[in-house]
Amino acid sequence: MLCPFTLVAGLWTCPQCGYVYPRPSDKPPRKNCSKAPSRGLGDTIAKVTRFFGIKSCGGCKKRQAMLNRLFPYRQNSPIPNADDKLE
Ligand SMILES: [Zn+2]
Repeated sequence: MLCPFTLVAGLWTCPQCGYVYPRPSDKPPRKNCSKAPSRGLGDTIAKVTRFFGIKSCGGCKKRQAMLNRLFPYRQNSPIPNADDKLE
C-alpha cells in the first residue's frame, strides 16, 4: 500500500509511518508505506513466508486472496499489532 500522504506545512507527510518527503512538490510522492496494515490473514502469511525466504507462487497468491476474504482484518481495529496474533 502506498503512503496516504497529506500536506503538512507544504510538505507531503504520511500520517501512517511518519515519512516526510523533504522537497515541496505539486503531487504526492509514491512510496510503499512501511506501516501499511494487512488486509487479512493471507497478507500476514505472505509476510511470514517472505520473512522465511519462501518464494510465493501462483497458488500462494490465490491462497493469499482466499485467506484475505475468509479472514479479513477489520479496518481501524482497536487491537494494535493485529499482525502478531497468528492463532
Ligand atoms: Zn507511510
